[in-house]
Amino acid sequence: MIPRPRRALLVFLDGVGIGSGDASFNPFAVAHLPRLEALLGGRRPVAEHLDADGRIRTERAVLVASDATLGMEGLPQSGTGQTSLLTGRNAAKEYGRHFGPWVPTPVRPMLAAENLLSRAKAAGLTAVFANAYPLAGADPRIFRRPAAPMLAAQAAGALTRGAAELAERQAVASSITNERWRERLGDDMPQVTPEEAARTLARITAGADVTLFAHYDTDYTGHRGEMAGAVAALEKVDAFLGALVDALPADALLVVSSDHGNLEDTRGGHTRNPVPVLAAGPGHSPFGAARSIMDVAVGISYMVGFDPDLEEPDADRSDIEGEEG
Ligand SMILES: [Zn+2]
Repeated sequence: MIPRPRRALLVFLDGVGIGSGDASFNPFAVAHLPRLEALLGGRRPVAEHLDADGRIRTERAVLVASDATLGMEGLPQSGTGQTSLLTGRNAAKEYGRHFGPWVPTPVRPMLAAENLLSRAKAAGLTAVFANAYPLAGADPRIFRRPAAPMLAAQAAGALTRGAAELAERQAVASSITNERWRERLGDDMPQVTPEEAARTLARITAGADVTLFAHYDTDYTGHRGEMAGAVAALEKVDAFLGALVDALPADALLVVSSDHGNLEDTRGGHTRNPVPVLAAGPGHSPFGAARSIMDVAVGISYMVGFDPDLEEPDADRSDIEGEEG
């Protein structure tokens, strides 16, 4: 019996893969991650901690190592990876290769039409992008070289939160805490802890059917290739996710995933490692069947019960069919 979620939150973490838990290069083996360990029964998202089937299953959550190479050669990149994660379509194959960090122009129409937020909206549901964006006076580069979550939000009419909303705790900074906004706006922008940001995101999630939040620092930090920074980035994410799980309403499904590996190996740049699909809350169990990042949007659409034309997740079906309400 799998309870259906009433609503879902997708937390996108850029550049987080699952690699060997070697403390000389993998911050997941070094960082203090009490909240993630509590969720995963004392284990961590490193290869050696996964069961033989590539999963960690606990009563509260499932984590599965999922393919991010999309069947293409070369190193996965953010533009095509994020587009695949948000649409369930193979953007790298459509474009002909991995591409990033921004979304290549030819796949933008597909991203706009088929991303999770646009699909939810087309089904008459509320779709929210929880990130604050510098809507006024923005650096035009972010619109010329856009990341997929922003394009998805724009297409769904959900790019609506800026500095004012962030200051009023009606939005979350992509960095989780507000220090980059404070560099620009000073004390007009309050400081927040990862826990406070998580409670804001939980409150936003409680008011919508589908919510997306995107965090990019994990990839930036991975590119720096320096262990102390990578550990700090992970510990912030751990505090944030732990508080988020505590604060989310009981009817909300949480899914956390990524576009490609990077942070898990400080020896340099993107990797071809699998990435985590971590799910918790009602309806989390079928996400253990996610084989690729393309299964994330499809799984959320299916579990929240919109877009019936989508293929159903093809594992754990008997469990889903057996449930009521
Ligand atoms: Zn990158």
